[in-house]
Amino acid sequence: MSMVKTVGINKSFGQLKVLKDVSLTVEQKEVVCIIGPSGAGKSTYLRSLNKLEQIDDGQIYIEDKLLFDCKDGVNHVKMPAAERNKSLLEVGMVFQRFNLFPHKTVLENVMLAPVHVRKYPDGEAKQKAKTLIHRVGLADKLDSYPSQLSGGQQQRVAIARALAMEPRIMLFDEPTSALDPELVGEVLTVMKGLANDGMTMLVVTHEMGFAREAADRVVFMCDGSILEIASPSEIFSNPRNDRTRQFLQSVL
Ligand code: ADP
Ligand code: MG
Repeated sequence: MSMVKTVGINKSFGQLKVLKDVSLTVEQKEVVCIIGPSGAGKSTYLRSLNKLEQIDDGQIYIEDKLLFDCKDGVNHVKMPAAERNKSLLEVGMVFQRFNLFPHKTVLENVMLAPVHVRKYPDGEAKQKAKTLIHRVGLADKLDSYPSQLSGGQQQRVAIARALAMEPRIMLFDEPTSALDPELVGEVLTVMKGLANDGMTMLVVTHEMGFAREAADRVVFMCDGSILEIASPSEIFSNPRNDRTRQFLQSVL
């Protein structure tokens, strides 16, 4: 079973074509990193997987279930909204900006969605939240407020918050690019731990070291298209596409 599959996704903002026939399959327990220049459409692609953007054309499958089959912005899959939303809950997302609730503690931030969306009982949600906060190395910060945490700690809370919804695949959109350089490592360490535990992950990143070390496959995206998909060793040592080569020369 694949966790996420997209076939021929197209998306425009007005006249600007942002995604052009993007097809990609992420298998269970796979870690796929998407790299590419700014404006390539990486964020739009991730957001389209989570219904944060409506695609114009193409198909999106989550766990082999066809959720979207779009033509000219109209989805032709007939399915109760509740069923589609349940499948979409399998997809967790962590953003560049962590957007924690400032007036809620770390524990409350992580418990909120499980209680309100998943309808977990308070006690159960609390136990689970504590376990996850421990897992991201912040057991001593349960009652802290976001403003009392570093950016790296806040991003780790955001990861725990996403995990609390028990997603089957995690999307990360440049999770470390808003952080001071000395805080990047602690977030990447948490992500590598997740990958080692078998989480399926699709990660947009500029951290080539992370891609090299953690990715099963690396996708190079440019101008709305996937230009190359390869193993990290192939893409970093011997990129086949000239644009991939140019991009890697500019960032490595
Ligand atoms: P990346 O994440 O690779 O930097 P994005 O997906 O954010 O690229 O953006 C791709 C292109 O789409 C860019 O040219 C961007 O300006 C444009 N874009 C993104 N979101 C919107 C929007 N909501 N409205 C109009 N244009 C957008
Ligand atoms: Mg982006």
